[in-house]
Amino acid sequence: MSAVNDAPATAAALAPYAAHDGQSRGRRYPESPPEFRGEFQRDRDRIIHSNAFRRLVYKTQVFVNHEGDLYRTRVTHSIEVAQIARSVALALRLNEALTEAICLAHDLGHTPFGHAGQDALDECMREYGGFEHNLQSLRVVDELEERYAQFRGLNLTFECREGILKHCSLRHARELGELGERFIRRRQPGLEAQIANLADEIAYNNHDVDDGIRAQLLELSALREVRMFRRQYDAVVALYPDLGERRLVHETIRRMINYIVVDFIRTTQSQLTQAQPRSIDEVRARAQPLAMLSDSCREEHLELKAFLREQVYRHYKVLRMTSKARRVVQQLFEAFFKDANLMPPEYRDQALRAETTHGATARARAVADYIAGMTDRFAILEHRRLFEPGERT
Ligand code: MG
Repeated sequence: MSAVNDAPATAAALAPYAAHDGQSRGRRYPESPPEFRGEFQRDRDRIIHSNAFRRLVYKTQVFVNHEGDLYRTRVTHSIEVAQIARSVALALRLNEALTEAICLAHDLGHTPFGHAGQDALDECMREYGGFEHNLQSLRVVDELEERYAQFRGLNLTFECREGILKHCSLRHARELGELGERFIRRRQPGLEAQIANLADEIAYNNHDVDDGIRAQLLELSALREVRMFRRQYDAVVALYPDLGERRLVHETIRRMINYIVVDFIRTTQSQLTQAQPRSIDEVRARAQPLAMLSDSCREEHLELKAFLREQVYRHYKVLRMTSKARRVVQQLFEAFFKDANLMPPEYRDQALRAETTHGATARARAVADYIAGMTDRFAILEHRRLFEPGERT
């Protein structure tokens, strides 16, 4: 992308509205500054070394992990999101390390089996405060990771935690102090978070086209009904009439991503030129995000999203898989909630301890933490161990 190559940014060239190390709102537990890297690099490095990050390899978005080796998993999705967001961040002179850290951590709290798993767990938790995957990502980095002697969790910077908590219900926002404030006051996070957020959508819409074609859920002829796809596809066919299908598809998707990312950078740049924010706090104080697509690009992007919802996410083969996934999560929850002794000792003890001090809601939360941490294949295995009489336990 030429915009990026034209303007390589260094830390010294950060824009005034970027997140600067020296202006960070800091960590929950104070630590001395790192010696040879920045604060946000340290955040990113801690995320990469976490257990939850490694588990993303075996968690899925749309297609269950064992269906094929070439489909996106949560880890490849997170890396693709980071790639897109870093390109945008560099072009706009934002903090690349913080942007990358937010992207790599944004799905850490996802349950097994993508959205089907999250919806099922949310239903199971209805009487116990619900389950929100963004909030769970924050819980993973704040509480659940056990890697450091001095504190629970990863002790990330405020800016990184702010970016990880993309959405949050008002009820939970009230319990989160400074971090929840923006949801109550309807304010924005820093630009690095805004960019990670939009990059997430761009990444999954485009890779779901690729995965949908690979899974034979999508026909190229049907995809040509989508304006954004048709324009790039027709351009590629006109230039390369003899191209094989695989390269044709990839070249089309590559051009779609490039088209959206260039629009993203230009539109956001012009928003910034108009608004002239002088600091990250001026970005935060706004009622609307500054990172955005142009109206026409957003409209076409939404058209693609609606197409995917109909053709991929509601495809009977995907629905069969999600209904199975839902059942696995529901039955695991019921079994463990009814009898915490069925969980491995460390989770059992955690659930029983939580219950003694905070009642059934805390026990439910401990069960939800155990299930949310599972990979797709581990959840399937646990389900078999619990419900198949012939299976080893
Ligand atoms: Mg995501």
